[in-house]
Amino acid sequence: MTVVTTKNEGQWALDQREPLNHNEQFKAQDDGLNVRRRIEEVYSKQGFASIHPDDLRGRMRWWGLYTQRRQGISGGRTASMEPEELDDEFFMLRIRCDGGALSTEQLRVIAQISTEFGRDTADITDRQNIQLHWVRVEDVPEIWRRLEAVGLSTTEACGDCPRVVLGSPVAGVSSAEVLDATPAIDEISRRYIGDPTVSNLPRKFKTAISWLPDTAPEINDVSFVGVVHPELGPGFDLLVGGGLSTNPKLAVRLGAFVTLEQVPDVWYGVVQLFRDYGYRRLRHRARIKFLVSDWGPEKFRDVLQREFLGFDLPDGPPAPVDETPLDHIGIHKQVDGNAYIGFAPVVGRVSGTILSQVADAAERAGSGRVRLTPHQKLLVLDVPPEQIQPLVAEMKTVGLEANPSRWRRSTMACTGLEFCKLAIVDTKQRAIDLVAELDARLEHLDLDVPIAIHLNGCPNSCARIQTADIGLKGQIVTTADGEQVEGFQVHLGGGLGLDAGFGRKLRAHKVTSAELGDYVERLATNFAQQRTDGERFAE
Ligand code: SF4
Repeated sequence: MTVVTTKNEGQWALDQREPLNHNEQFKAQDDGLNVRRRIEEVYSKQGFASIHPDDLRGRMRWWGLYTQRRQGISGGRTASMEPEELDDEFFMLRIRCDGGALSTEQLRVIAQISTEFGRDTADITDRQNIQLHWVRVEDVPEIWRRLEAVGLSTTEACGDCPRVVLGSPVAGVSSAEVLDATPAIDEISRRYIGDPTVSNLPRKFKTAISWLPDTAPEINDVSFVGVVHPELGPGFDLLVGGGLSTNPKLAVRLGAFVTLEQVPDVWYGVVQLFRDYGYRRLRHRARIKFLVSDWGPEKFRDVLQREFLGFDLPDGPPAPVDETPLDHIGIHKQVDGNAYIGFAPVVGRVSGTILSQVADAAERAGSGRVRLTPHQKLLVLDVPPEQIQPLVAEMKTVGLEANPSRWRRSTMACTGLEFCKLAIVDTKQRAIDLVAELDARLEHLDLDVPIAIHLNGCPNSCARIQTADIGLKGQIVTTADGEQVEGFQVHLGGGLGLDAGFGRKLRAHKVTSAELGDYVERLATNFAQQRTDGERFAE
């Protein structure tokens, strides 16, 4: 089928030259990547006050830098408040870890940067990044120098560009894997991250490439998931258009089969298509999911093949779906006889000190490789059998559990009010307290299925609330006494894998932050008492 398309669907005002919103204007005026030179030559020398507003709140994101929320302000952002009013002169710095892969040497460098320049802060995100806080612009060039000396970067860690590429934390070591996708992730990173041909996209662009469906492929802008083609052998099923926030959508299959070698070219084709045809008029309708939804998979595939690839992809079967997404926690045998061990911090919160202890412990156990997971967890690979128990014991002493409680294992939280300017409520500390409350109250709950609890501090969905069993969206709620307090809108029954779908928003279910422990206890207890054999929460 040949379809007619135009490349100016909504990007520009009627004269076809004038961008329609401020983000498009500053991106058209100067590429986000170009701010690096100004940071190195001007801002780091002249300080925070010298930063141009379009760089401060716009282009610096292309280098992983967001202003963090000013401290000492009580309460969250109100409707009348612009996020800029909450700007602090410190930054959150996001370090991209494509595929979640780090050597212990790289981990140690991140740890040292955290202790030296980030007040010992570090969070493992659900996109396999590490985020530091309290970073000063004066220190950024030195931080880059240290990161780049060990092959790490903050390039395009935020901004309207290709963000970190998710990959299986067990790529190359799992016995369940047929084909290791790491070469494709490395090639994309080498060729296209920092490439000005795709650094001005309509909106952020999220990628997942993995043999196992353990990278939330259903909710990425583009995903490649492993599948064996009956005639062509192992390769990847191609999905596009997933995403959360407002108007959440599950990615759709294009029905095309992609070989490992083709993945970088096909990925580049999808990104170029998004660059040229994606909607730029309204930011909240700019993600690729809206284009995919309007076009449908058939037209999308046709335009991709004809205009951007120059060849047709063969049809392919769908990738198998796991019952419950794998989180890789605990001790698992690798293909080479060693083990990989998944450890759980609470909601991804660690510190520079802890990361440095992890690097030391991993090396003492004979490993040089660590992986971050899309569940805010951390794996140590290549552990010889005799080192498994010593490593598990040592990691426990730094607060990382290989055998965590069910609540620690399946609770995630976004950054929230502590550092995020968009936040309405506290999430990280609330989630840490919630895990402790549930551990104490429900230690003996008789349940053989996980209950995933995700907390967001605002309607954005950095912690994927719509795909949690219990999704909690931060908002101000009114108590029975008419008091306005921090709380959450509840979404129930979302999931990934076999249960892929979005939780139902129950309008009547709003819970104050203070009551959250009681609420989740009631839900979990009722579910445990009333479920039929084998029933999962999302069912
Ligand atoms: Fe910030 Fe909202 Fe994202 Fe949480 S969900 S990190 S509050 S933007």
